[in-house]
Amino acid sequence: MMDIFQQMESEVRSYSRSFPVVFHRAKGSYLYDEAGNGYLDFLAGAGSLNYGHNNPLLKKALVDYIEQDGIAHGLDMHTRAKANFLQRLQELILTPRALDYRVQFTGPTGANAVEAALKLARKVKGRSNIIAFTNGFHGVTLGAVAATGNQRHRGGAGVDLHNVERMPFCGYHGRDADTLKMMDKLLSDPSSGVDIPAAVIVEVVQGEGGLNVAADSWLQGLQKLCRKHDMLLIVDDIQAGCGRTGSFFSFESSGIVPDIITLSKSLSGFGLPFSIVLLNPVLDQWLPGEHNGTFRGNNHAFVTATAALEYYWSGDHFAREVAQKAVLVSQRFKTIVEAYNPPALRVKGRGLMQGIECINGDIADAICRQAFARGLVVETSGNQGQVVKCFCPLTISEEDLCKGLDILEQSFAAVVEQKFMALKTA
Ligand code: PLP
Repeated sequence: MMDIFQQMESEVRSYSRSFPVVFHRAKGSYLYDEAGNGYLDFLAGAGSLNYGHNNPLLKKALVDYIEQDGIAHGLDMHTRAKANFLQRLQELILTPRALDYRVQFTGPTGANAVEAALKLARKVKGRSNIIAFTNGFHGVTLGAVAATGNQRHRGGAGVDLHNVERMPFCGYHGRDADTLKMMDKLLSDPSSGVDIPAAVIVEVVQGEGGLNVAADSWLQGLQKLCRKHDMLLIVDDIQAGCGRTGSFFSFESSGIVPDIITLSKSLSGFGLPFSIVLLNPVLDQWLPGEHNGTFRGNNHAFVTATAALEYYWSGDHFAREVAQKAVLVSQRFKTIVEAYNPPALRVKGRGLMQGIECINGDIADAICRQAFARGLVVETSGNQGQVVKCFCPLTISEEDLCKGLDILEQSFAAVVEQKFMALKTA
């Protein structure tokens, strides 16, 4: 069975290399291979399965819709499913947060949403430059990869990547350096060589970049800077949004109001491809069809996304549940980190977007391999792949969460102690 992948699938495949089994079924927080072995899933479709695999509530809504011959593909025509989604997004997410956005349905991937957001910002402001941050990840299509920091992804572009200026993310130069002050100086000096950009694009918690968190005060300062220099503020909430950090949007605790927000990954709730751009209505300067695509708005995803909003985001019960589980993760991670002295590990991230930073990527990789051997699917992130990233479904039971954390603890013990001993005796 493995042979077919080796024979036919491109070398570009990646996750499958870390988990060399053939998965066949999935339910809740578990993946099952062909032999029926269960694996707890702490990767969750890289953040696309916040509500778990084949969530029964969402599955029922989708199966009912298909049974009734609901529209599967409708280009960007009006459909009942689309209207329901828009209504629920307005009622359950935007209005309670006093947010006013137009919705642009883009192609189905996160990168599609990022491309649309950057293109719109450039069109509205009439400037080509965009500011992106160190360790930011925004996708691998040309515009998005230009805004992405990771050298491997940038190297794959095959052309020079232009029109993006890189600035240091919150804390990049250590706790005491004021990265916003530096940015302000560069933007205020007509001879700094930094062109005023159309927009700044930022992740509140850098998912692929190593779970680096932008402090609320930093985000507030960034918003001020954007207003001062007439730059649009784009929050890329593709990975950190849809409840991953505890609130529906990752920036809510900061009180900022981005001009543009990109959402994807867990938006459909069911793992179906679906992305949107939320834009301040005054920015809606698109001409009809100026930015288009055959798969803008996936009707099956509208159905599951609507059900997800209704079941999980009516009121704050789900956010409270995520917060409780996040405390559990923080406590267990603190215990793991404190077990090693002098400190060799560090807890990173926020909400159910936390991880443990190791000394290097080899150690983090070895820990993930140990975890897989014990039945846990977990991956790394960070500029050196040095962060073991816990990305369980938000709907995970406390029992399964503890089981996964136990496996992580055992995997750390098996690898770090061994390496640590080797370092100590060297
Ligand atoms: N933006 C962020 C913050 C992401 O984490 C990702 C993917 O991981 C993307 C954009 C790109 O999304 P996609 O892989 O669906 O193109």
